[in-house]
Amino acid sequence: MKADIVTIFPDFFRGPLDHGITRRACEMGLAKIEVHDLRQFTHDRHRTVDDRPFGGGEGMVLKPEPLFECLESLQLSSRQDRIDDRVASRARQSVILLSAQGERFTQKVASELATLDRIVLICGRYEGVDERVTDFVADRELSIGDYVLSGGELAAAVVIEAVTRLLPGAVGNDASTRQESFTAHAEAVDADGADSTCGSGGLLDYPHYTRPADFRAMAVPEVLLNGNHQEIRRWRREQALKKTLRNRPDLLEGAALSEEDSNILARLKSGGK
Ligand code: SAH
Repeated sequence: MKADIVTIFPDFFRGPLDHGITRRACEMGLAKIEVHDLRQFTHDRHRTVDDRPFGGGEGMVLKPEPLFECLESLQLSSRQDRIDDRVASRARQSVILLSAQGERFTQKVASELATLDRIVLICGRYEGVDERVTDFVADRELSIGDYVLSGGELAAAVVIEAVTRLLPGAVGNDASTRQESFTAHAEAVDADGADSTCGSGGLLDYPHYTRPADFRAMAVPEVLLNGNHQEIRRWRREQALKKTLRNRPDLLEGAALSEEDSNILARLKSGGK
């Protein structure tokens, strides 16, 4: 996958993209990330990228000309073709404007983006970006959450990290990214064939523990030490349900729940242990 980031702060990305799985995905050639300095697409002496808002009001707005020119230099397919391809489920490219007003960026959107050949991420600043960029250049607006950041750079880094780790081969064991929080599949598989893990099926992940088994008198749950994969799987599923009920009950509505899950939930809701 090729990812292009358009920003007025290109140096911001030295660091966030240079570690862990994102870095490895780039080194392995699974991802190629290019950062474009918006000021390179200005023509005045001051390299102006912003201007005052029409109609009055606070702050400055990112001007359309440098953004249009930058995007044109990337030689993508037309906005209409990108939109049509997405509707027809054959999307290959997406130009995304990071925006607090965007559609919520979720694990589902991340896995959708991970199937594309190319994503372009436009980082806004100040009061935002001239709306003509939304209407005529970007085919999608994404928000990483219901809060306002000062710029789209952190949001772009979040999107890149969530997407690159889903590229096949980026994480050592692909099965592990299929079993995490929010992931839709409900699988019960393990690298060695033992049936002790459970896919999240749209729930939050189950709790993880590692050595030492007893740390400052805080013991790891006994069930994880007994080698009974069936029991471990059942315990993990119950813990995932418990945590989801406690922290994100909204996720239960869309989750893939078995009859056993529903029984566990009924017990948990009635205060049972
Ligand atoms: N006036 C805007 C906020 C502008 S913040 C509003 O009220 O909606 C400046 C830039 O930060 C935005 O253009 C966007 O690129 C980025 N940004 C802010 N919050 C964001 C969020 N939750 N998700 C993604 N990008 C965000």
